[in-house]
Amino acid sequence: PINKTQLISWLKKLNTVYTDKKEYLTELDAAIGDADHGINMNRGFSKVIEKLPAVESKDIGTILKTVGMTLMSSVGGASGPLYGTFWMKGGMVLADKEEINSEDFFKFIEAGVGGILLRGRPNLGDKTMYDLWAPVLEKIKECADNGDDVSAIVDTILPVGEKALADTIPLQAKKGRASYLGERSIGHQDPGATSSFYMLETLKEVLA
Ligand code: ADP
Ligand code: MG
Ligand code: MG
Repeated sequence: PINKTQLISWLKKLNTVYTDKKEYLTELDAAIGDADHGINMNRGFSKVIEKLPAVESKDIGTILKTVGMTLMSSVGGASGPLYGTFWMKGGMVLADKEEINSEDFFKFIEAGVGGILLRGRPNLGDKTMYDLWAPVLEKIKECADNGDDVSAIVDTILPVGEKALADTIPLQAKKGRASYLGERSIGHQDPGATSSFYMLETLKEVLA
């Protein structure tokens, strides 16, 4: 399972990652968007870290909902509401939890991805963060049904995420700012799928 200490450590490390990757994510967004995705993620997670001390001792659901509300109010653009609902919906299914077992982990990601779908109405292949999450969620379900523990699940989904991320490169964007470019969006990795991949990569580090 993921305990609360690990959850807090995940969020803190994510803040470091989005600080380190601020320029890279912004470069990816410069190619097919408005060159702010790294700035947005960095701003959002800095705010999350400011809010953490006030909720650290609460249950996991409350912590995740706070992450979501903080991102919702500080990130802006398309990714703010998308990541905002991701963490908020995830938090709602983890109310009163003190740790996250594999079934909880599946429910968390399922609810979070459900939030992305409701907000953004992405279809598979639209070149968005959903193209990262859809195959990852499917794999999580498979692993959870199989009885794998969370760290085994995270190990298994990382290569799935890596492939899904690379698979966004040849896609033509059909949602968000990148869609304004039409065919010129082809050949670039999606910024939001990239920032989503960092969530998985960082979780693996925390559980290692
Ligand atoms: P903005 O485009 O408003 O500047 P960001 O640059 O922070 O916002 O985020 C862009 C990312 O948001 C894209 O790379 C894509 O992954 C994601 N995105 C945009 N629109 C949608 C949507 N309708 N559904 C899902 N994801 C989306
Ligand atoms: Mg942008
Ligand atoms: Mg923007």
